[in-house]
Amino acid sequence: MSNIETIVIVGAGQAGASAIIELRAHQYEGKIILVGDEAHLPYERPPLSKDVILKPEDTKIEILSAEKLAQLNVDVIRGNGVVKINPETHNIELKNGEVLAYDKLLLATGGAARRLPNFDALGKHVYTLRNLEDSQALVPVLQAGRRIILIGGGVIGLELASSARFKDCQVTVIEMGSMVMGRCSPTILSEFLLAQHRQKGIDVRLETKIAGCQLDGEEVVVILENGEELRADAVVYGIGIIPNAQLAIDANLNVDFAIQVNENCQTSHPDIYAAGDVATQLRANGQYARVETWENANLQAGIFARHVMNVEHPTPNPAWFWTDQLEINFQFVGDMAASQWHIRGEMDVAQGSENSFVMFGVSDSQIVAGITVNAAKDMRHLKKLISKKSVFEMEKYLDLTQDLRKLVK
Ligand code: FAD
Ligand code: NAP
Repeated sequence: MSNIETIVIVGAGQAGASAIIELRAHQYEGKIILVGDEAHLPYERPPLSKDVILKPEDTKIEILSAEKLAQLNVDVIRGNGVVKINPETHNIELKNGEVLAYDKLLLATGGAARRLPNFDALGKHVYTLRNLEDSQALVPVLQAGRRIILIGGGVIGLELASSARFKDCQVTVIEMGSMVMGRCSPTILSEFLLAQHRQKGIDVRLETKIAGCQLDGEEVVVILENGEELRADAVVYGIGIIPNAQLAIDANLNVDFAIQVNENCQTSHPDIYAAGDVATQLRANGQYARVETWENANLQAGIFARHVMNVEHPTPNPAWFWTDQLEINFQFVGDMAASQWHIRGEMDVAQGSENSFVMFGVSDSQIVAGITVNAAKDMRHLKKLISKKSVFEMEKYLDLTQDLRKLVK
């Protein structure tokens, strides 16, 4: 039995919802109050760039229904965000002036799309994507024949490029860096992705800087630094996120762009925790790192729940995430900065979504990372190989006649 009476969770997103499930799974019987600034019950964000746009009627995104929340005995406050934390008096203030007391507080406030003020200033035909309304707003925009410019060749830009192409839009992606998905993919896979997008007719411009933008009637004109002008019916930009850390800054918690937390997801105040996109966590190497993935939000919510319930944490699995683009499922696990990459199977750009292969990331002879491309069933084997610190043996692991499942044992 825990003697904690009230836990308040700020942010009804992935980490917030997951924290509720984890707390109850670890026999927390006290009060849980979930405070969200959105009008919705907690929902999944990954479908927002994919199925919510492609098949809105058939897509369910809810994480916890009203019935489930009632069953879990959670008090839910929606559309009324937290505006202040008072760590000394252990309470929070809501937008409507209400004050709520807590024993433990979890900040699961996620992040907001990084803004491009000159584009926002155009006032119309410019979009970003973070929440359900943003995604729904894109459904009527991404119509056949429309010219769509996507700024940012990261996950949002590429997933939207894929969705827009399926809708028969004319798509241009403008990326400032020299690679697509450069923050989370090794060069060899980034080049494969780039070739896939170009093969589908998506005009991907790398190392391209924007000098300005303007409206010309109903067209958006994007002016590049080389003087070229691109015209579009709409511009969507995905240039990263800013963690929603203002509450923590105002409360004098340690914040370094994101909210700093220790291995238990505790902030610099022991009764305040943070999890998900808003948190940067102290790692074994003494550095802080932030991970913006669905899995990390769930994982850190679990760390928080176990710590308040005094339960030991299991050894974490290597970090994992996925992306779906152009009917290809990509899954990534482990350290994408691995020094060498080896392909099991054939990587053939011309085969498009028929491609199916596995990649091993190796550093100092050890398997430290893996990627599956339309080979999701092999992901669990890669996870095991990394966890077991397996030595990479080329003749064994790249031989397709050898069953990967058996090699893992
Ligand atoms: P969120 O899920 O964003 O939840 C934070 C919540 O807190 C929001 O509802 C916010 O409104 C609320 N909030 C903020 N401030 C306050 C306040 N002051 N008071 C009350 N509430 C507040 N990851 C993958 O691994 N694979 C994918 O394919 C993938 N696809 C994605 C597609 C899109 C379009 C997006 C946007 C993200 C995607 N991600 C994906 C990333 C993943 O969804 C995020 O990492 C995850 O949602 C982070 O969870 P979170 O709880 O930290 O933040
Ligand atoms: P991101 O993955 O960080 O990518 C942003 C990209 O935009 C980077 O390649 C960046 O280049 C580029 N960029 C920055 N400023 C630019 C500019 N002015 N002009 C052109 N390019 C510019 O961020 P995101 O794609 O916006 O995604 C936002 C959030 O959603 C992230 O948390 C992400 O993890 C999440 N998300 C995840 C998935 C998934 O995991 N499948 C899918 C969708 C969204 P540099 O790197 O060179 O700065």
